Amino acid sequence: AKEQGRNRFHYFTASMQEMAQAKMHLTNDLRNALAQNEFQLVYQPIIEFSSGRVQKAEALIRWNHPVRGAISPMEFIPVAEETGLIVDIGNWVFHEAARQTQQWRQRYQPDFQLSINTSPLQLRADASSLQHWQRSLKSVGLPGSALAIEITESLLMDAGFAERLIAMHELGIEVSLDDFGTGYSSMSYLKKFDIDYLKIDKSFVGNLQKGSSDFAICEAVIVMAHKLGIMVIAEGIETSSQLSILDTMGCDYGQGYLFSHPVSALELEKLFKADLKS
Ligand code: C2E
Ligand code: CA
Ligand code: CA
Ligand code: CA
Repeated sequence: AKEQGRNRFHYFTASMQEMAQAKMHLTNDLRNALAQNEFQLVYQPIIEFSSGRVQKAEALIRWNHPVRGAISPMEFIPVAEETGLIVDIGNWVFHEAARQTQQWRQRYQPDFQLSINTSPLQLRADASSLQHWQRSLKSVGLPGSALAIEITESLLMDAGFAERLIAMHELGIEVSLDDFGTGYSSMSYLKKFDIDYLKIDKSFVGNLQKGSSDFAICEAVIVMAHKLGIMVIAEGIETSSQLSILDTMGCDYGQGYLFSHPVSALELEKLFKADLKS
């Protein structure tokens, strides 16, 4: 029994060690990924319900690892946050997004807006992301209003957020509250901060038939947001019945697999000409 116990213990530490080692490899690889040009942005269209056109899109990062292939942001963003690499990665995302948006506005859609995900660390006082973003906008020749920054609810509780929000708005950048309803938001934050868009999390869009609690939540959130002068984007729309229910509720924009999966820049260009709602 003693022998067996020792073996089990040995096995356990070995796997812990393997996990720590795997993470160390990932961290090292992540440090080189920017220099090696391994990141890519893909784009998921955001459809304007009143017109059916692709008026916006959300930029989503992809890491094409030379050995492991595609690694999900769910796996590497937390590591990037822990190591602080997220600030440089985030600045790359912003610059690439700005460059691409400028091109699309010139070629296809003058009022197109791209929405960019951020991690709370990027908006911390010592991150200097805003200066970097300002320089990016200037070098690309893009107005800040062509971009929206998606933030999560936890950032609203950060002491420096009010200042950061004003600075973003001064650049013209709009602010979108992502995954609304899944975090620790309280209504008082919505009253306190001038948020431009609220994104209803996909977990509230899954079960939308009349009488369901998701139905009640979506309906109430849309009414509340509109009374506060905030536009609503629903995410995770997968069926035409979800679309028609949200449209009837007065939701302003929607995204999800029903319209399109996240696609390459080249693929998104084809969608600019389409009416995806009909
Ligand atoms: P998110 O911001 O909530 O992005 C939406 C996620 O839902 C994306 O996963 C998207 O592919 C997926 N999705 C889109 N439509 C549907 C649908 O109809 N049904 C379902 N079930 N899922 C849908 P993805 O691309 O794997 O991104 C995962 C998360 O990684 C994002 O969640 C975001 O938090 C983070 N992320 C992505 N890109 C960036 C980035 O550039 N910077 C930062 N800081 N985080 C990022
Ligand atoms: Ca998002
Ligand atoms: Ca989201
Ligand atoms: Ca507003």
